[in-house]
Amino acid sequence: MGKIILTGDRPTGKLHIGHYVGSLRNRIKLQNAGDYDKYYIMVADAQALTDNFDNPKKIRDNVIEVVLDYLSVGIDPKKVIIFIQSEVSALSELTCYYLNLVTLSRLLRNPTVKSEIAMRGFDNTVPSGFLNYPVSQTADITAFKANCIPVGDDQLPMIEQANEIVRKFNSIYGDVLVESEALLPENEFERRVPGIDGKAKMSKSLNNAIFLADTKEEVARKVMNMYTDPNHIKVSDPGKVEGNIVFLYLDIFAKDEHFEKYLPDYKNIDELKNKYREGGLGDVTIKKFLISILEEEFAPIREKRKYYETHIDEVYKIIEEGTKKAIEDANATLREVKNAIGINYFADDNFCKEIRSKYMQG
Ligand code: ATP
Ligand code: MG
Repeated sequence: MGKIILTGDRPTGKLHIGHYVGSLRNRIKLQNAGDYDKYYIMVADAQALTDNFDNPKKIRDNVIEVVLDYLSVGIDPKKVIIFIQSEVSALSELTCYYLNLVTLSRLLRNPTVKSEIAMRGFDNTVPSGFLNYPVSQTADITAFKANCIPVGDDQLPMIEQANEIVRKFNSIYGDVLVESEALLPENEFERRVPGIDGKAKMSKSLNNAIFLADTKEEVARKVMNMYTDPNHIKVSDPGKVEGNIVFLYLDIFAKDEHFEKYLPDYKNIDELKNKYREGGLGDVTIKKFLISILEEEFAPIREKRKYYETHIDEVYKIIEEGTKKAIEDANATLREVKNAIGINYFADDNFCKEIRSKYMQG
């Protein structure tokens, strides 16, 4: 079987550098390599509602923002099916059958869900829809028979749970569903980019993000406020590189040619780190360097966003057509699933024969 890719994002806000590094860059690489049979990107609005059910406007408004972000980073709608989750009703039906295959205690053990429950202060008030979102994610993945999922490492427990459900389904009802594998960035920091506040994960919900749509000035302001080494007060003080967010971002983005262009006193990141450790290198210098690099990387993305913002009808068409295709493909899997369980009464001639033979003979 060939490669089928599926990924997505919750429309809870615009996409940020964490998405770009942890997932979008991989998605573009995959798209351009062309080595796949089908490629889907989903705007997970139904999933976003599980913890934003009381603020549906936020979700509705951000659907288009997320799609604009996709198009601006270079996702090509000719190669990738972009669709809206809630429009594909087969996904909800599949979720309903999969829920029988997972226990409450298993759902409560999911480490990502656990930390998200804590982060949102849900305690005993967690909506069951939220607790169940990994099951709905299983529906998203399996509906398209996706086997390759480019994501950040917070999604690993979801893939594991999805595969457990797939195995259970197949062992009870027959081989219909396909197991999937996460595709993570190679570098550990790229799998979970920290926020500008130094918190473990940059996240739309944590207010610690640099967004792809931020203006040049906003990016500069955010970098200038970035967490560095609190004990590195004077330029001459020796500084710590570990846990210093500016260096972490430089590790992700800085290439040797950036030094030549913007900071020719140093050849590479190792020289810069040594100087910082030694003392004599100020935070403003490293922050300005990072600002230049980010500007080089994100200015073209911002430009592309502007194009699509002024051609919004094109964007609408792209998601409308993508969603139509996704509905067709998910319906095909739903039919297979219902056939396998035997809940296909009117599509199955045998059902009619069975009831006839049972009652007409007697
Ligand atoms: P929310 O706060 O609403 O959950 P989020 O910022 O966590 O938003 P999601 O839409 O949940 O973003 O995640 C979409 C994809 O981006 C997932 O594959 C996730 O692993 C990846 N991702 C999100 N944040 C980061 C990050 N800081 N570093 C690396 N990958 C990330
Ligand atoms: Mg998230």
